[in-house]
Amino acid sequence: MTTNKPGFATLAIHAGAQPDPTTGARATPIYQTTSFVFNDTDHAASLFGLQAFGNIYTRIMNPTQAVLEERVAALEGGTAALAVASGHAAQLLVFHTIMRPGDNFVAARKLYGGSINQFGHAFKSFDWQVRWADPADPSSFESQIDDRTRAIFVESLANPGGTFVDIAAIAEIAHRHGLPLVVDNTMATPYLVRPLEHGADIVVHSLTKFMGGHGNSMGGIIVDGGTFDWSASGKYPALSEPRPDYAGIVLHATFGNFAFAIACRVLGLRDFGPSISPFNAFQILTGIETLPLRMQRHCDNALAVAKWLKGQDKVAWVNYPGLEDDANHVLQQRYSPKGAGAVFTFGLKGGYESGKRFVEGLEMFSHLANIGDTRSLVIHPSSTTHRQLSEEQQVAAGAGPEVVRLSVGLEDVADIIADLEQALGKA
Ligand SMILES: *Cc1c(COP(=O)(O)O)cnc(C)c1O
Repeated sequence: MTTNKPGFATLAIHAGAQPDPTTGARATPIYQTTSFVFNDTDHAASLFGLQAFGNIYTRIMNPTQAVLEERVAALEGGTAALAVASGHAAQLLVFHTIMRPGDNFVAARKLYGGSINQFGHAFKSFDWQVRWADPADPSSFESQIDDRTRAIFVESLANPGGTFVDIAAIAEIAHRHGLPLVVDNTMATPYLVRPLEHGADIVVHSLTKFMGGHGNSMGGIIVDGGTFDWSASGKYPALSEPRPDYAGIVLHATFGNFAFAIACRVLGLRDFGPSISPFNAFQILTGIETLPLRMQRHCDNALAVAKWLKGQDKVAWVNYPGLEDDANHVLQQRYSPKGAGAVFTFGLKGGYESGKRFVEGLEMFSHLANIGDTRSLVIHPSSTTHRQLSEEQQVAAGAGPEVVRLSVGLEDVADIIADLEQALGKA
């Protein structure tokens, strides 16, 4: 091998993987086993005591999962990663490592709906408080910080509206207060945005979406940026104080710039147990091999669709940062010059009934709640995901009665537009 730093497409195929030393298998094998044999009792003791790295039990680590972890860490430019069962499991383990009861964190108000529920409701039973800020106004994060604040959380490209966030400005605020910035990079993927290069400290993903990319496997991952000083403030005792469950080891002092990933594994994953199955890790790894090709096509198709929709009589507005007159276009050009993602919303002049008829009239598009599949997907939020909200709340969430959300797939763009055109005729 040369000493060149491999490019993104090369890493997407090779990072973390090598031919299987026993069988010569070239694709990464699915290590479908719960447990791993120890060499002897000393070896077993050193594994359990964190004195040696190695496989014990698939809840905690597995060789297929390990390849996925190395690959995503390489693509994001992090020091290490931890793959788990879903994006929500990744978020749970991040906050479990950072927070104690009574602590709070500041999160962008515009997030994936499931994250708004997890932070606002489920986390209450741990007495972890969330405070909401406006992702379009970085200073709104600063005014929410107090001495019990432990982190800031944003999405790089916010779901469902599809708007880019000024990561560097928010990272600067976090670091001025000695806090880590956690970025959910699900919608952008590292092909479009690499949050660690803009000052983020931790990246999380739902691998279920564009990373796996084929709508067939749940997964999540935590990437450790390796830059945050967990010992400076005394605010992160899980990392900076001796662990009673590991014979007094101090995780940050022992594991340095990948201590956060280790802590999420040996405290969070070990004790809560949301492990990814080796089969799902394999499916997602296979998806990632074509990530650069797929993401570029997703973006190119989405831009063509957004431009076409803008010219249609029945369409009131289109929100897509790739359009030159979009309010978010300047941030998109700065953070994601290769493209503006594939998920965006538009409004129908005919309102609620028109939105319903449009979604029901589509033939190739699938009507469902996911995003980031090879297939084109659609949802009418006000009659589905946001149905329980009042109309006023729907509008505030960007899910008013006229709003349709698309996740533009990888089909021929002429066929995607033809399906939209015939359904608009029925709307
Ligand atoms: C889907 C999604 C999640 C949650 O991931 P799961 O894999 O469904 O648990 C989190 N953040 C974003 C932006 C998502 O789109």
